[in-house]
Amino acid sequence: MNCQPTETPPPELVDIEALRERYRQERLKRLNPDATGQYIRARGKFARVYASDPHMPVIPRDPIVEERDVAILGAGWSGLLAAYHLKQAGVTTFRNIDHAGDWGGVWYWNRYPGIQCDNDAYCYLPLLEETGFMPSKKFADGREILDYMKLIAGRYGLGAHALFHTRVTGLRWDAASGRWRICTDRGDDIKARFVVMANGLLNMPKLPGIPGIGDFRGKMFHTSRWEYDYTGGSNANPVLDKLADKRVAIIGTGATAIQATPYLGRYAKQLYVLQRTPSTVDERHNPPTDPQWAASLQPGWQKARKRNFHRAAMERFARGEPDLICDIWTEINRNLSAELEAEGWPELSIQEFVARREVVDYRVMERLRARVEAMVQDRRTADALKPWYRFLCKRPASNDDFYPTFNRPNVQLIDVSDTRGVERMTQNGFVANGVEVEIDCMIFASGFEVTSDLDQRWGIDVIEGRGGVSLYDHWRDGYTTLHGIMTRGFPNLCFTGYVQSALNASTTEQMSGHTHHVAHIIQEALARGATEVEPSRQAEDEWVRHVRETAIDAQIFLRECTPSYFNGESSEKPRLYAGEPYGPGWDAFTALLQTWRDNGDLAGLVVTKTSQPAGETVPVP
Ligand code: NDP
Repeated sequence: MNCQPTETPPPELVDIEALRERYRQERLKRLNPDATGQYIRARGKFARVYASDPHMPVIPRDPIVEERDVAILGAGWSGLLAAYHLKQAGVTTFRNIDHAGDWGGVWYWNRYPGIQCDNDAYCYLPLLEETGFMPSKKFADGREILDYMKLIAGRYGLGAHALFHTRVTGLRWDAASGRWRICTDRGDDIKARFVVMANGLLNMPKLPGIPGIGDFRGKMFHTSRWEYDYTGGSNANPVLDKLADKRVAIIGTGATAIQATPYLGRYAKQLYVLQRTPSTVDERHNPPTDPQWAASLQPGWQKARKRNFHRAAMERFARGEPDLICDIWTEINRNLSAELEAEGWPELSIQEFVARREVVDYRVMERLRARVEAMVQDRRTADALKPWYRFLCKRPASNDDFYPTFNRPNVQLIDVSDTRGVERMTQNGFVANGVEVEIDCMIFASGFEVTSDLDQRWGIDVIEGRGGVSLYDHWRDGYTTLHGIMTRGFPNLCFTGYVQSALNASTTEQMSGHTHHVAHIIQEALARGATEVEPSRQAEDEWVRHVRETAIDAQIFLRECTPSYFNGESSEKPRLYAGEPYGPGWDAFTALLQTWRDNGDLAGLVVTKTSQPAGETVPVP
């Protein structure tokens, strides 16, 4: 398909100075000095939010005492890809450990009605060419993704390696045995030579710290623990018929709420949508996969498509490069490329390019605000649903049913932006804008711990490296790593994630790049009979210096953004990107790692071999 630029209001109708000022005012209204402190942890009284599993019963079992070459903490995409790459590298004695009851990570937990991936499935789902799987449509359903993850686990024989419904509570390096000792909430004692931290970004639900939240006597749950027993229906058939006599409120209008709200509106007797900051919601356009197109794909197509997506969403198109993705994520660069083409593709400095991009950004956001106006009948509601910030200050959404939901007589939007959220909860409901509203059920679409401190985010009480030093203390004043993969003082511990490594527009591509590299290190270390592998001080210092010297300052953009988890909820102290992403970008990063692997000397890692016996390992077929 030839993707055309999307029509947006002409520049003469877009008053950029007025918009800048409006964005500034809307941001100021939402700034909250408590930043991440405004949320309640899923601990203590609210531990159930994290610990409970509405999807599968937890079967009692005896504690396990065993030893493996590798323990992979997590069985979501990063854990699955770590297992896949280890297996490909010939390492077979590993174990995925996850507190979920199966593979899937976020796709295991999040089964709320309407759940779909907001990214192009032909990019998002990894290994499509290897497995021969083809998603049924552009934006895949959550169930299809979950099934595909299980398919990968089955196809590559990873299932026998997994320990589910098991939460890791402690990780301690035992120098005497050269092993990590892993404690779990099941009383297990697992020893592993290597540990891969594959515990994801969105695994710890958070609740808004609304005064009186503990007083509410009705039903409450978080969207990542959807209780179909209460609402009726199922993930496969989300007919929420038990809500027919219920007054329901949902807190939040982020990516999750955008998808779940239309179902609540359809089935609940009364629905209140409590909104603090509106999302950008474009049309979905989610056609089924065209079999002719699928049959026409040539080897290497997925890699090429992912590269195209990354360039479109996070960098810029080259002259003549088509937009293969053609959705809201790529609109700004698509439109800008068309403009540049019409001008004969002038040479632009970075500053000039950024300035041009900003103008297109205002026009795209004007288009999205006009979309609300066209779809929502009540003027006040439509006005409240309009987003006033730059594109990508919040995660863009697309959904055809969200706005029409507000035309239903049983649905009411309550704007709580003036009070920075819901004022308080009572025994019978909530208070917003000074009015108490009685409800039967409160659903929290309030997101996850993304920018809070690592111990909060990971939920692992203890991670102790050499000399009993806590990883949380080790990184208290800033990250120190080699390639974002290992840190000195924590031998044989590998990370996957957002710290001091490059970002890719597709999270699964990013995880795949990291876990491929991790598998290489582990395979090499085991082949060399190494007992300890960790970065040298010099290599680590050089990497940290290089990352900082080449950093691109995204903070100006983020500081001007309305608060979100992208900037740590405060706009003052950007946090997600405090992981210090690698400025030269994804292609440079992966090329650097590839060269490093090709050199074959594990440069910058100190590899220690002691006479310590390897110990009994448990081979898994
Ligand atoms: P978010 O963190 O994006 O949204 C949380 C929502 O809760 C926001 O609207 C927030 O408002 C609101 N909120 C928080 N506290 C209060 C309060 N006290 N009063 C009123 N409102 C409040 O969480 P989501 O679960 O929506 O999404 C998290 C991430 O999950 C996404 O960004 C995405 O990465 C992923 N996701 C991915 C999907 C996919 O398609 N791949 C689909 C769904 C989610 P405010 O904005 O003002 O803070």
